[in-house]
Amino acid sequence: MSIDQIKDAIESGGTGDDLAGLAIPDTYRAAHTLRSEQEMFADMASADKDPRTSLHVGQVATPELAPDEVVVAVMASAINYNTVWTSVFEPLSTFFFLDRFAREGHWESRHRQDFHVVGSDASGVVVRVGNAVRNWKPGDRVVIAPVVTHDQDPDAHEDQMLSANQRAWGFETNFGGLADLTVVRASQLLRKPTHLSWEEAAVNLLCAGTSYRMLVGAHGARMKQGDIVLVWGGTGGIGGYAVQMVLNGGGIPVAVVSSPERAEVLRELGCELVIDRKAEDYRFWSDEHTQDESEWRRFGKQIRSLAGSDPDIVFEHPGRETMGASVFAAKRGGTVVTCAATSGYSLEYDNRHLWMKLKRIIGSHGANMAENAETIRLLDRGAIQPLLTATFALDDVGEAARTVQQNRSDGKVGILCLASSEGQGIEDLEKRERIGEDRITSWSRSFAANKRSVQD
Ligand code: NDP
Repeated sequence: MSIDQIKDAIESGGTGDDLAGLAIPDTYRAAHTLRSEQEMFADMASADKDPRTSLHVGQVATPELAPDEVVVAVMASAINYNTVWTSVFEPLSTFFFLDRFAREGHWESRHRQDFHVVGSDASGVVVRVGNAVRNWKPGDRVVIAPVVTHDQDPDAHEDQMLSANQRAWGFETNFGGLADLTVVRASQLLRKPTHLSWEEAAVNLLCAGTSYRMLVGAHGARMKQGDIVLVWGGTGGIGGYAVQMVLNGGGIPVAVVSSPERAEVLRELGCELVIDRKAEDYRFWSDEHTQDESEWRRFGKQIRSLAGSDPDIVFEHPGRETMGASVFAAKRGGTVVTCAATSGYSLEYDNRHLWMKLKRIIGSHGANMAENAETIRLLDRGAIQPLLTATFALDDVGEAARTVQQNRSDGKVGILCLASSEGQGIEDLEKRERIGEDRITSWSRSFAANKRSVQD
C-alpha cells in the first residue's frame, strides 16, 4: 500500500470511511536526523553546523498505534527553531530526549530509534484512530499542537505544562510533523481553521500558542488594554504573533528588528513603534564578560521616546545578548516574560534593577491545550493571521532550516508534505472572503513587496 492512495483519497474528497479503509504503509517519508551522526559537528562553530548535511529525507518505519493515538496524514508542516536545534545537535543531541522518554513505558519505548523524525507543527487529516480515542475519527481535518502529556499525572489537570512528563512533540519525542504521516496523541488535536490552506494552517500553533501563553494567558504576563509591550524579534515566529496579539488586545507594541525592511513591514501591519537594533548599533556587551549599562540606558531612553513610558511587559527570548537590557528596560513593577535563549542560555542581569523596582521574571514554555485552543480560535475568527512568508517542499527541508538558522527567514516557513501545491485545503471560501484575502496573506505580501522594493 502506498502513501499515494491516501493522498489521492484526501485530494479527491474521499470520506472518512474511504480513508479508514486504506491500509497504513509500513514505512513513510520523513525528515530525520541519525543517531550515528550525532557527533558529526563536534568541535565546529555553531554557525558552521549546517542542517542541510544533518537533516535527511527518507523512509522510516511506521510505529505501532497506541490506543490513545491517531495517525494523521500530514498535508503541511513548518520549520520551528527547535528543528534547527535538533539538526545541529545543540545544546545536546535530541536522541538523549528520545532515550529518556522511552524509559517511561511500553508505548514510549517506540520513540527510541536510530532516527529522529523532527517537526512540531502540522496540518492534516486523521486516517486512523486508536480504540481509546473518543473525539476524533478518520476524515477529520486537524492541526496538531506540540504538547505531549498524559492525564494520569494530577499536575496535568492544574496546568498541562506543569506535568512531569510534558514533552515537545517532534523535538523531545519521535515521529514529528515534517513527514507524510505522523502518530500523535489524540489529545494534541484541534480542528483546522476552515478558511486556511494546509500550509497557512500548519505554521501557527507552536509559536502562536507560546506567544499567547506568554502574553495573554493566566500563566503569563496577563497583558491588559493600553499595556506597552517590548517585543524582541518582532517579525520572527513568536515575535510576529506577539505583535499581532498585542495589537489585537489593545496594547501598544514596541517591536525590535534588525533591518529597515522588517521595520517597514511591521509599520505596514499596524505596529507603529519599531526599533532597528542594527541601525541603532546597540552593543549591550562591551566584551564577552562585561555588559555596558550605558547601552541599556540608551535603549530604555529610545523606548520611552517612542512609547512615552517604560514597557509594562518585555517579551524576551534572545537570551544572553538581551536579558540585561530587558530587565533594565521593564517599567517599575513590570514583567519580563521569557521562553528561550537563542543567543545563549547563561543569562546575566543586574539584580538591583529587578528587586529595587519590583519587577518580575516569568518563565514560560509552550502552551497547554486550553491556551492552544484559544489561539486557534483567534486564527479561526480571523483575529490573528498566519505568519507564513515562504513555503518549501519536504525534500528541501534542510535548506528551509538553514534559512531559519541564519535569521534569513521572516515570520514562518511552511513545508508542503502530502499537499501537492500551495493554496490547497481551503474548505470555506465564503469565510475566507469575509475575513479578507488581503488580511490573511498580509504578512507574506508585505514581505514580498518589501523584498521587491529593496531589489529595485
Ligand atoms: P525566529 O528565528 O523565527 O525569530 C527569532 C527572532 O529573534 C529573529 O527574527 C531576530 O529578529 C531575533 N533575534 C535573533 N537573535 C537575536 C539577538 N541576538 N538579539 C536580538 N534579537 C535576536 O525564531 P522563533 O521566533 O520561532 O523562536 C525564537 C526562540 O524562541 C528560539 O530560540 C526558539 O527555540 C524559542 N522558542 C521557544 C518556545 C518555547 O515554548 N519555549 C516556543 C517557540 C520558540 P531580528 O534579527 O529582526 O531582531
